[in-house]
Amino acid sequence: MRGRPGQVMPAVFALATAFVVLVVSVLSTVAELRPRAAAPAPGTGPAATEAPAAGTAPEDAPGDEPDGLDGLDGLQVTMDVLYAGRPAAEATGGSTAETADEAVPGGGVPSAAKASRAAASTSRAQCRDTAYALAGWRVKGTAGWYYNSSGAPSAVSRTALSAIASAARSLVGASNQCGLPAPFKAGQKYLGATKRTAAVSTSSRTSCGTEDGHSVVAWKRLGSTALAVTCTWTRSGQVVSSDIVINTRYRWHTSRPSRCTSSFDLASVLTHEWGHAFGLTHVSPSKHGTQVMASTIPACSSVRTLGAGDHRAMRRLYGVR
Ligand SMILES: [Zn+2]
Repeated sequence: MRGRPGQVMPAVFALATAFVVLVVSVLSTVAELRPRAAAPAPGTGPAATEAPAAGTAPEDAPGDEPDGLDGLDGLQVTMDVLYAGRPAAEATGGSTAETADEAVPGGGVPSAAKASRAAASTSRAQCRDTAYALAGWRVKGTAGWYYNSSGAPSAVSRTALSAIASAARSLVGASNQCGLPAPFKAGQKYLGATKRTAAVSTSSRTSCGTEDGHSVVAWKRLGSTALAVTCTWTRSGQVVSSDIVINTRYRWHTSRPSRCTSSFDLASVLTHEWGHAFGLTHVSPSKHGTQVMASTIPACSSVRTLGAGDHRAMRRLYGVR
């Protein structure tokens, strides 16, 4: 009896020690698993792949871009870059798909019969090609977006917003010349002008910055030869926000000039960029050059309506109403 307290105390002490060790070990495990709240610092996005020279974009290069980066809170960012390209064989008619663009204020209408025949030919090719590629995300509900007009080239400063909005409507509205059903069960809404900038770095190595909860379309002079860049932040396959930057190094038009040599159609490029924002990614420009999602677009060409492949991709993601 006298010996018991002496035996019990070490046992209690050992038990208490084991309990403390267990608690400390559990707490440190929890600390390790807890995601850091901080978003990735600007400039930590995936670096741009080397910009191919105009017309030499790699063929069928899905590994080129998009490129993803896993954030610690499950936020993933993907950068998609559109480059200038040589005219595709089907698109040599120049102004092409504009007959279906009544919704585009100031949209050019081809006057010559030659342009009209080229448009019909391009339209047929665009409707035959069903190639598409999905980026791995979709927009849930309505994608609201802002526009920052700062730095817009004077040639388009008054018409740019209308062209950008029209491009968004074309995509979700399934604007096409192929008799395909429209619109998609997807939504987009212009939320107003903003002073916020798009989180895309202007250094020679284009990269995505920090997600700020606002989808912004903006102009910047990019250090790369990209025509436009879209950064899309997603979580579990759903879009959190998308920023689109249009490169002011290039000349832009919203209505094709009569003697077009080197400027790019803003509505066509934006239809492509909105495609990324809604979950589409690139197809080969040499094989599928009539599709909106071809990874290059030639100067002076117009691809404002969805090809069969573009439509198929959007339909698969959203369905039609
Ligand atoms: Zn692209």
